[in-house]
Amino acid sequence: MGRDWSSLEIDRKARAYAPVLPVSKQPADQRLTHFDEIYYTYEAEMARIEASRCIQCPDPAPCQLACPLNNDIPSALKLIEEGRFIEAANVFRQTSPMPEICSRVCPQERLCEGSCTHGGGVSNAPIQIGKLEKFVVEFQLAVEGMPLGKVAPDTGRRVAVVGGGPAGLAAAEFLRREGHAVTVYDANPFPGGLLIYGIPAFKLSKEHVVRKVEQLKALGIEFVQNTRIGRDIPLQKLCEDYDAVFVGVGANVDVPAKWEGVELDGVYQAGEFLIRANVPVELQPAGLAQSGKPPVGRRVYVFGGGDTAMDCVRSSLRLQREMGYDLDVTCAYRRTEAEMPGCKVERANAREEGAKFEWLTAPVRFIGDDSGRLKAIELIRMTLGEPDESGRRRPVPLEGSEYIVEADTAILALGYWPDPLLGKTTEGLETHNWGLIAADPQTGRTSLPKVWAAGDGVTGPDLVSTAIRGALRAARDIHQALAAG
Ligand SMILES: Cc1cc2nc3c(=O)[nH]c(=O)nc-3n(C[C@H](O)[C@H](O)[C@H](O)COP(=O)(O)OP(=O)(O)OC[C@H]3O[C@@H](n4cnc5c(N)ncnc54)[C@H](O)[C@@H]3O)c2cc1C
Repeated sequence: MGRDWSSLEIDRKARAYAPVLPVSKQPADQRLTHFDEIYYTYEAEMARIEASRCIQCPDPAPCQLACPLNNDIPSALKLIEEGRFIEAANVFRQTSPMPEICSRVCPQERLCEGSCTHGGGVSNAPIQIGKLEKFVVEFQLAVEGMPLGKVAPDTGRRVAVVGGGPAGLAAAEFLRREGHAVTVYDANPFPGGLLIYGIPAFKLSKEHVVRKVEQLKALGIEFVQNTRIGRDIPLQKLCEDYDAVFVGVGANVDVPAKWEGVELDGVYQAGEFLIRANVPVELQPAGLAQSGKPPVGRRVYVFGGGDTAMDCVRSSLRLQREMGYDLDVTCAYRRTEAEMPGCKVERANAREEGAKFEWLTAPVRFIGDDSGRLKAIELIRMTLGEPDESGRRRPVPLEGSEYIVEADTAILALGYWPDPLLGKTTEGLETHNWGLIAADPQTGRTSLPKVWAAGDGVTGPDLVSTAIRGALRAARDIHQALAAG
């Protein structure tokens, strides 16, 4: 939608002074009693007031440029201000295939809101873009349900999508709307990728993913679950059976930990821990070492500094409350808070919920009792040395600073690697860095003529919105290639 500047009569100065109107969230003590979302939604009048703070920056607005999906945020905010909520929701839908999900999980503080002119202005608080986006899509849902949208007449062309995470779902939807027949193959029992099997329900209720999948099925997309391409069906077979293949397999392998004692009962990898804590048993994938809620003990240590670490901390606090323990969850990070890569908002939420932090701290070994259960952890203090290849100062152990803490549960949130399976089993598919698929970032084209790829499986672990962006670029290129050939 183009912005009509002639009709805008905006007193930018008054807007610049308008104070932020945030949505409230549940008190921490209440949040700990469940795994549901914690934020309330705007009332209509509040949403209009908050949106009316937007000063309608000249086109292209910084918030729009900072959005990986290039959402036309100023136009949506103008419509919200005028009470035209469904039209505003549709503005988000023009560029985003899943605004109900992005509005909840995007780290807006580093994207749209991080670049909002208000952030550095008199009010010093950005427009609450994420919460307004969430409000309008919820409003639309309540009034008219999830809009199905249009599908072009059948083209007779068939596309296979490997991986049903945000990248795969976005590519599948785009291609289906262009009239191609689309089948999604996914290794898990349910589609959604990390939207189901990673991000906890207190950040993103699973119902939104289920509803998205229902919409895609209603559009005619077929889903084949519990099927790992490269093991159950070779990728080459899909290339023979389909006109094009999109690969969005993510990067879901926990970085292996090499410390003594990581095999003890009570020491978890973050991936498995989060699935067991957050995913209903009937949807948990086969192949987990154990299923059901992980029995956290009285003293929990989480190692890592990213969003996954914070998700483990907050899940552990809820599990401790559920199991009747006093709260005792510590996040240990080998650098300082300033170098922590995770989202500040989520860290603040964790603090409110009772998380403790130990900076400049790393594990040395995990110590078990006679039955093979974790009973203590040896830790060491770190200091910061010269910057490493990431530009952050390298953590260096302080010799002689080792100490032992009692612990019943340790969770290792050290990051994720790609699964090398497709690269290993597909002749001619170029990969690098332990299995990331080599693909052109603009078109998603890989070394194989019928195969495109995008998402975390190409970039390494990143964000939902960037995975969608890559998938949409690839899907556009697939559509052009199919139309040309
Ligand atoms: C704990 C955690 C919390 C996160 N929190 C956030 C957040 O708050 N905000 C945010 O923006 N991002 C967050 N992320 C990152 C975000 O979830 C990912 O960047 C995003 O899901 C990547 O999408 P994708 O489609 O590329 O991969 P995935 O979501 O990983 O999906 C890949 C899919 O491919 C399937 N698959 C893999 N191999 C095969 C195969 N061989 N055959 C068939 N199927 C296969 C998998 O089953 C999976 O369904 C988080 C990640 C984690 C781990």
